[in-house]
Amino acid sequence: MSVKITDICIACGSCIDECPVSAIVDDDDNPNGEGIYYVYPDKCVECVGHNEEPACASACPTDGCIVWSAVGTTSRDEIGGDLRDGSHPVMG
Ligand code: SF4
Ligand code: SF4
Repeated sequence: MSVKITDICIACGSCIDECPVSAIVDDDDNPNGEGIYYVYPDKCVECVGHNEEPACASACPTDGCIVWSAVGTTSRDEIGGDLRDGSHPVMG
């Protein structure tokens, strides 16, 4: 149950304060050492119970940087497994 941030990320910082569960860390704290922001998949709840859409993706100025992660497939009913291949943008 998670979204993930792809390498389109420009590290603008718009998403991090929008997350209701503090699942996002900046590029300095990216555990993969990449120069992009990172979503901890074990923390992200896809904003279920907090927002109608994932707030990070709503705040992100890029085109499709934040995608549905393949991690966990038992969350938002309307998001099928076919969208959870890590390439489909959260906001269309
Ligand atoms: S989808 Fe929601 S819970 Fe998940 S990282 Fe984005 S803002 Fe946080
Ligand atoms: S809002 Fe988008 S581009 Fe900006 S840091 Fe977050 S994921 Fe990266």
